Amino acid sequence: MTTIQLKPRKEESILRFHPWVFSGAIARIVLDADHRAAEPEEGELVRVLSAQHQILGVGHWQVGSIAVRLLAFGVDALPERFWHERIAAAYTMRQRLGLLREDNSIYRLIHGEGDMLPGLVVDIYGATAVVQAHSVGMHVSRHDIAQAIVEVTGVDDVYYKSDDTLPFKAPVAGEKVGYLVESRKSKVESGEEYWAKENGLEVRIDWLRGQKTGFFIDQRENRALVERYAAGKDVLNMFCYTGGFSLYALRGGARMVHSVDVSQKAIDLVNANVSRNFPNCTNHKAVTADAFDYLSEQCAQGERFDLIILDPPAFAKHRDAIKNALRGYQRINAKAIEMIRPGGILFTFSCSQAVDKEAFRLAVFSAAAQTGRKVRILHQLHQPQDHPINIYHPEGEYLKGLVLYVE
Ligand code: SAH
Repeated sequence: MTTIQLKPRKEESILRFHPWVFSGAIARIVLDADHRAAEPEEGELVRVLSAQHQILGVGHWQVGSIAVRLLAFGVDALPERFWHERIAAAYTMRQRLGLLREDNSIYRLIHGEGDMLPGLVVDIYGATAVVQAHSVGMHVSRHDIAQAIVEVTGVDDVYYKSDDTLPFKAPVAGEKVGYLVESRKSKVESGEEYWAKENGLEVRIDWLRGQKTGFFIDQRENRALVERYAAGKDVLNMFCYTGGFSLYALRGGARMVHSVDVSQKAIDLVNANVSRNFPNCTNHKAVTADAFDYLSEQCAQGERFDLIILDPPAFAKHRDAIKNALRGYQRINAKAIEMIRPGGILFTFSCSQAVDKEAFRLAVFSAAAQTGRKVRILHQLHQPQDHPINIYHPEGEYLKGLVLYVE
């Protein structure tokens, strides 16, 4: 195995279980004697040593500023049945948290660093697991991972969907998309509808054509909170995607729900989900529109709501886009606050990892100040328990939300 030796003192964060080795921390690379290339190959397992030759751990090598993602600390090889054990630990945690129930078959099984598997995401939809590799190392290990997922969870199918998540310049052998385990002809592939359950609500999952792994699981707990506030309210669900928040609002007794998304495919899914759960529903309307245009037009026409949900895509994917992102959050939140009836509620979110809690709160504060309304914070929301944050890797915190009471 290739050995990566660090510069003096660069072992400190690793001894505190932070799983990343930055390229600038590396003093030298000693290749395995029978190594083919002159450099470590992307995705290969490497062992990491301190300047004093202390064994720090084993991880996946990758070209880029994060050179090694550590999988195991204090050892110089991965233990036997490593994948099985790590995945079983994650599964046990979800079981203990009460997420695997008759009325809930959707949950995230592996959340990267949060489950001590940097670069790996696994979402479960009933009998299907959808796997995303964010590192070449996870791609290289995908068959072992799929095998372990089946052993641990008993799912029938494992679908691999990494065309958008693998570093795009990396030389990757093998398919980035397709079934790794397929026990029967996939229903989705043959055009049949596939339904899974979140807190008793049925949602149609299309991992082939849907965004990300097919569904945004990370808003489950926040949707449940919307349900608590929805009774008798006129609700606007902006950036609705498959309409998760809309379903909970309807079940919570909303008077009327409007769902808005720029994607027609998303709107088709919202309509399918609403008819499936509320067959005689007459108080839901789905609109295909750009959110900024829609809010401006509706606001100008005097349209007002009692409860608005704003769950935009990540406005800042990188650090250099933060300024623009904050401007976007301010603009859209100001519009929404303006459109809330007196005594109404705004649920507002940011899933940009690069925008931290304080920066987001400041953007929403600026938006509130701009409108001149009296605004109080009722709840501060975050990602749910199946998207855990490794305490040694605070960078794993990404979803934040505020629930505001607008007088
Ligand atoms: N709230 C959703 C997840 C939102 S993901 C849920 O609970 O599942 C973000 C969504 O915003 C995507 O569906 C995307 O199609 C939509 N979107 C992106 N840009 C948009 C825009 N300018 N106007 C409206 N929708 C947009």
